[in-house]
Formats: sequence, structure tokens, C-alpha cells
Amino acid sequence: MRSGSRRATTSSLQARVSPRLDSRAGLSALGTRTTGSDKASPPVSRHRKSHPHGLEGTFTSPSERLTEGTAVGLDVGVTDIRVIPFLVSEMLLPPDDQALLGVEWWPSYGHAVVHPGGVFLFDNGVGFGNAEIDATFSPRVRPIEDVLGEHGISMTDLTGGANCHLHFDHSGQNIRLPKGLPIFVQRAEWAMVHEPDYTIAEWIDVPGLMYEVVDGEIEVALGLRLIPTPGHTPGHQSLAVTTSEGAVVFAGQAVRSSAEWGGASGQESSGYPSAPDQDTYTRSVARLRALDPVRVHFAHDPAIWQC
Ligand SMILES: [Zn+2]
Ligand SMILES: [Zn+2]
Repeated sequence: MRSGSRRATTSSLQARVSPRLDSRAGLSALGTRTTGSDKASPPVSRHRKSHPHGLEGTFTSPSERLTEGTAVGLDVGVTDIRVIPFLVSEMLLPPDDQALLGVEWWPSYGHAVVHPGGVFLFDNGVGFGNAEIDATFSPRVRPIEDVLGEHGISMTDLTGGANCHLHFDHSGQNIRLPKGLPIFVQRAEWAMVHEPDYTIAEWIDVPGLMYEVVDGEIEVALGLRLIPTPGHTPGHQSLAVTTSEGAVVFAGQAVRSSAEWGGASGQESSGYPSAPDQDTYTRSVARLRALDPVRVHFAHDPAIWQC
């Protein structure tokens, strides 16, 4: 990404918006604190209810999506945890990717989980100010602090954060997160930051940011757990939240869409066909299904699956 031509950038979107592989889903939860610039090293049969709260229905066009109705608070059914899904960025896909993914604009959704101990932020979309990204994808991006502010959350309310993976359409605004906020990342993902064409490192590996590099599952707040779900990338992770109703899963891009969770397998709705290691991808999906979630949220689909 740093020096690639426009053509290289376009073709490498596959590497960022679609998958790569890893072999292991570690089980231990060893945390290693590092800071920016410190190179550290077939579906369960359930019926599907799409966007039960009209989330998708509030969007009509890309520009409108980013100016109004971009986020809807969603109570998960318990009084002490609130889930806020929000659209934070969209980018215009090159024709090849439009054909592959079945959409013209590629949306990135983040989620804020408000819990008794604070607010955990999962993903923050595309960032600002990279000439090559701007020229190639014409991204429409809202500052993460503005999006959260619409829900009464200030950046100082954040007590932890993570990206499902470090492709630039999920982590582009890490650079705007408060210095000292723990940002949890799997070791296998952190190792990719400076690989050619992997992401936009200048948005991620920033002095002052505090990454907590972990191997495997880790509880990041009471009832909130990050679970390795490699497949799309080597260190992909998903977030699971325990509620009185059951598990609420934030799949990230371990599963592309609500339709995929419900059994769809076409490349326009499923990440499986383009996954570099499909066995690993499948194991990660199985890991999430084993949680028997009552709701599943996705990073690129506003539809919320629920049982
Ligand atoms: Zn993505
Ligand atoms: Zn990706």
C-alpha cells in the first residue's frame, strides 16, 4: 500500500477486504503489552430476522447513510448492557470487487458495547488522509468521535477497544483512539501490520497507542470475550458478550453477512469462497456457532441475525 500503483492497490483489495489464513486458534490468553511503533513482534437451522429494528431501512443512498440515521441503539434485552451498531465508513469498490462482492459501496460497521464497567469499541472503519486510499476508493468516512457522540459516548468514556482484524476498513481510525486505551489484538494479526499491501500501517502503528497483544481468547471486560476466528486473516477475532438472554456475537468478518450465517454460500454474501484457507475459516465459523448465540452482528452487513 505504501508504494503500490493504483492497479496494485486495487488488486490488493482482495488481500484486505477478502481473506488470508492462519492455522491456529490459540486457547491461552497471554497478554503482552506493546505500544505503537514497538514492532511486536452449514448452518444451524434457525430462522433469520433481518434488521429487526429497521436498521437497514434507514439507509437509502451512500451519502444519506453517512449523514443521517447512521446508527441505531439496540438493547440486547438486559438492562446492564447496550449494543450500539453504527455505520462509520463506506468506500466505492473498483469494478472487479463490485462484481465479486455484489455491492457498489462497501460499508464498514462498528459496534460500541456499553457495559457496567465502561464502553468497549469494536472496529472503527476507514481512516482519513491517505492519498492512495482516497484516490482508489473515494471513501466516505465519519470521525469515530462524532459517531459515538451521537449516542452520548465521548472518547474518554471508552475503556477498551479492538478490531476484528487490521485491514484498513476496520482499523483506520485507531489513530484517533485515546492514547493509553488498551486495544486488544491477536499476535498473528499484529505481525501483519507492516506486511506489504496488508493495511495502512500509518493509521494503526502509531506512537502512543497501547496495543495489548494476545494469543487466544481473552476476557476484556466482565462478560465480554474476544475469540480468535482466523480465516479471513491470520489473527482475526470476534467478540462475544454474555447476556441474560444468551450470547451476543460480533462476528466481524469471520462471517460476511447475516445471509451467510443463515446458510447462504454464494460469494456475494459469504466470505468462504474467497477464504485462503477454507478449513480454517470453517473452523472459526463453527467456533462461533458453538456459542449458540441469540444475536449475531457483522462488520459489513447491517442485518442482525437473531434466533
Ligand atoms: Zn473488511
Ligand atoms: Zn479484511
